[in-house]
Amino acid sequence: MLITEMKQKDALLPHFSGKVFFLVCHGCKEVHFPEAEVEAFKAELMAADKLTGYLTTDYICNPENLTLRLAKHAQAIDDADVIAVFSCGVGVQTVAGMYPAKKVVACCDTYALPGFQGVTPLEYDCKQCGQCYLNLTGGICPITACSKSLINGQCGGAKNGMCEVDPNMECGWERIQRRLAQIGRLDALKCSVQLRNYATDDLVNQ
Ligand code: SF4
Ligand code: SF4
Repeated sequence: MLITEMKQKDALLPHFSGKVFFLVCHGCKEVHFPEAEVEAFKAELMAADKLTGYLTTDYICNPENLTLRLAKHAQAIDDADVIAVFSCGVGVQTVAGMYPAKKVVACCDTYALPGFQGVTPLEYDCKQCGQCYLNLTGGICPITACSKSLINGQCGGAKNGMCEVDPNMECGWERIQRRLAQIGRLDALKCSVQLRNYATDDLVNQ
């Protein structure tokens, strides 16, 4: 189980340069899915002629399911500069993996609650940290892809692209740098130091 909370509009709008396709997940909406806020935001952007299209569906964390659902939106996605995803971190990473050349924007933060979470493919992990960094990391989660959950770049210990903690695992930050280079967003690494609010990690125990 999880909670998704829409990020502040002021934090999202700078990511929406050009046209936007809205993708909204209804999969894990049992708890506090920000349905009303997302609908209101969508209406605002439609009125401003910013949207090429939108889809509200369930379980966007399942790539096969999502491929089928998006089939009839191919042109609208092609026409969009940005895919704005309103889901947990797993859903955002699924979309970023399907459209590696597109800018995919994580529009929600994901908080943990015990229990079920969608149909999570293991390779797209989210630890529900409550402060989603995917917009700075090209849609690859630094909390799960890096053994140390570093959020400000790599530790310097990688050898031949492999993690110093787990030599069987590719260094998550090398993956992030490759993805950012692929989508022309290496500038994201120049932003000021990110601070992590560990209080949001532990809603379960509050
Ligand atoms: S940064 Fe990672 S762990 Fe945190 S919400 Fe985003 S995908 Fe989940
Ligand atoms: S080698 Fe890479 S993945 Fe491993 S801990 Fe360092 S930065 Fe993280």
